[in-house]
Amino acid sequence: MQILDKINIYSAFGIRPSVYEFGEKILEKLKARFSQIDEVAEYNQLKVLKAMQEHKVSEACLMGSTGYGYNDLGRETLEKVYASIFGTEDALVRPQITCGTHALAIALSSALHPGDELLSITGRPYDTLEEVIGIRPSKGSLKEYGVSYAEAELLPDGHIDREAIAAKINERTRLIAIQRSKGYAERRSLSVDEIGEMISFVKSLKSDVLVMVDNCYGEFVELHEPSEMGADMAVGSLIKNPGGGLASVGGYIVGKKECVERAAYRLTSPGLGKEVGATLGISREFYQGLFLSPVVTASALKGAIFAANIYEELGFKVLPDGGEDRHDIIQAVTFGGREALLSFCKGIQAAAPVDSHVTPEPWAMPGYDSEVVMAAGSFVSGSSIELSADGPLKEPYNAYFQGGITWPHAKAGILRSLEQLIRDGILEEKQVVF
Ligand SMILES: *Cc1c(COP(=O)(O)O)cnc(C)c1O
Repeated sequence: MQILDKINIYSAFGIRPSVYEFGEKILEKLKARFSQIDEVAEYNQLKVLKAMQEHKVSEACLMGSTGYGYNDLGRETLEKVYASIFGTEDALVRPQITCGTHALAIALSSALHPGDELLSITGRPYDTLEEVIGIRPSKGSLKEYGVSYAEAELLPDGHIDREAIAAKINERTRLIAIQRSKGYAERRSLSVDEIGEMISFVKSLKSDVLVMVDNCYGEFVELHEPSEMGADMAVGSLIKNPGGGLASVGGYIVGKKECVERAAYRLTSPGLGKEVGATLGISREFYQGLFLSPVVTASALKGAIFAANIYEELGFKVLPDGGEDRHDIIQAVTFGGREALLSFCKGIQAAAPVDSHVTPEPWAMPGYDSEVVMAAGSFVSGSSIELSADGPLKEPYNAYFQGGITWPHAKAGILRSLEQLIRDGILEEKQVVF
């Protein structure tokens, strides 16, 4: 294809030639990294395919059940497929799990009893868990049920603080929570190997402690999953990586048989557990989304790395930085001010396939303690494996950028955000000319 054709199609899309060319310059130095990402995707694609074949996924699995949902072949087989992929004894993968927070709340409340203590060893957990735990008071929190909470901060360099953990573990510590992705915190995301070391360390201090990993945004980024490293449970959302952009709702909990059973008893009812839960017509999306997920995750990763390199080149603080290894699909960019953050999100929204004509407005989203702005012109509402950006409207005005179910869309979205920053006068066009 002629360069001119590409410049023309980007221009038609509202992206000026200087912005397009700036992107091409940045991409030149990313070729080797992108090919590494493709190799991880290739490995994970075969892992998923092999699990589907091993468990004899059949056309009948793609149908749904109604009512109680007894003997739902699709649901039962999918849970076996998840268990194989994540290297666990069992799995709970359900549309009745409404989101990632819900999956985490189920995992925590099923494992913790009155008098137990929960210890987070990766600092303050994801915002919405504050109410689940009772860090911020809430009806029905773990705290209300007599489960106490302790926290060990990460060291300033982002690694775990072994001394702090040793000091915080006590006879009541029942479950240790590890969050793989940084979420809305300014810290590193953790590699699967590091998580494995953390698990061995805490189990060496207290052998019967349970470890739960919040795996949100981390699935298929590496060759292995934290659940293969001795975690008792790993938990995530299907409208992030493992749903591949197709799952329209849902969450999963994979892990030890006993833990998954307890989680199922908490989700449905004691005695019923995994036996009930109609899938209605949703099974096909779950299978097909899981099948696509390794490649979709790779697209999102490329988008994150591209964004990091673009904004780093323009002098913004980015986390992870342009050259760092990746352990999740989130990219943070510090905009330092309200206007710049809103402008970035406006640009991402303008590149969406759905609702590109609207301007994202900040709002007080349930579960968050400040206003949040979200750019999400997605097919599935709130899906953050699709190209999306969000940011709490508070210092330092970080945008958290993620997703892109195809790489060309992620690329176009990032270039469109840069175009928007120029249009809104936050950057000058001459800054993007090499
Ligand atoms: C997204 C996310 C959650 C919560 O998931 P929701 O689906 O938004 O409820 C929890 N932890 C982390 C690290 C996340 O990224």
